Amino acid sequence: MKIFNNKKDLRDCLLEHKSNKKTIGFVPTMGALHDGHLSLIEKASEKNDIVVVSIFVNPTQFDNVEDLKKYPKTIENDIKLLSAASCDILFSPKVEEIYSENITSEKFDFDGLEHQMEGKFRDGHFNGVGTVVKTLFKIVAPDKAYFGQKDFQQLQIIKKMVKKNHLNVKIKGCPIFREQDGLAMSSRNIRLSKEHREIAPFVYKTLKKVKKKFSHKSISEINKWLENQFKKQPLLTLEYFTIADEKALETAKTKEPNKKYRAFIAVFAGEIRLIDNIRLKH
Ligand code: AMP
Repeated sequence: MKIFNNKKDLRDCLLEHKSNKKTIGFVPTMGALHDGHLSLIEKASEKNDIVVVSIFVNPTQFDNVEDLKKYPKTIENDIKLLSAASCDILFSPKVEEIYSENITSEKFDFDGLEHQMEGKFRDGHFNGVGTVVKTLFKIVAPDKAYFGQKDFQQLQIIKKMVKKNHLNVKIKGCPIFREQDGLAMSSRNIRLSKEHREIAPFVYKTLKKVKKKFSHKSISEINKWLENQFKKQPLLTLEYFTIADEKALETAKTKEPNKKYRAFIAVFAGEIRLIDNIRLKH
């Protein structure tokens, strides 16, 4: 595996692969890698000749300074995992390499997707995500890029950005990887206290019950039921729960037959914020 910290060297290397007609699959990450990340890398290696992974903790997508400071950094272990996986090239730039002196976001219009769910609680988050992904796409120029459905809103926003900017990259969404007890894998999980780690699978357990109820209960009944479940759970604080259509991500009040729905949730376990979602059928 080759490692680059510098975009010029990375570009030179990729130009050579491209001139040999190799296809490039790209997996952007913030590091502290787990099996969820590795599943994206495996998907990328099945469909592309060369797999590029980036590790970059992007400052502009954090609305909370403490969260940025405490974001787990495990680069040595990440390099070991990537070397054993199907990663050909790791790009691990410093902040200056991506932003020069100006650590600010471009302002995007994602046709309203950015105002739903995460957008209501994480100010400027999606402008930060859009800025870094657009910059990384410019540097890597991949054929395909892989994103997890764990961050479903992010995935839809990246697809929108690619469409609106006519970028020449195919975006692939990949399923959520979970721990054995159902907790969605996340780099932040290692910061959970013992008692919060024990209770955290409650989030997915509750989402699975929502999925069952969706066939025969109304959305308002489900919303009320879910709020009550979390009221009985002192170690977890519900930030939002919403059933929304997959396309516009707008909160649904009634079920329309031609729309696909998902339930989305954000919960605080102590100071760690957990997000998850589940596909619903009606
Ligand atoms: P992150 O390092 O958290 O920015 O995530 C990098 C990529 O991995 C994003 O596309 C995430 O959606 C994806 N990802 C994170 N956790 C999971 C998971 N548990 N299952 C599948 N994909 C994930």
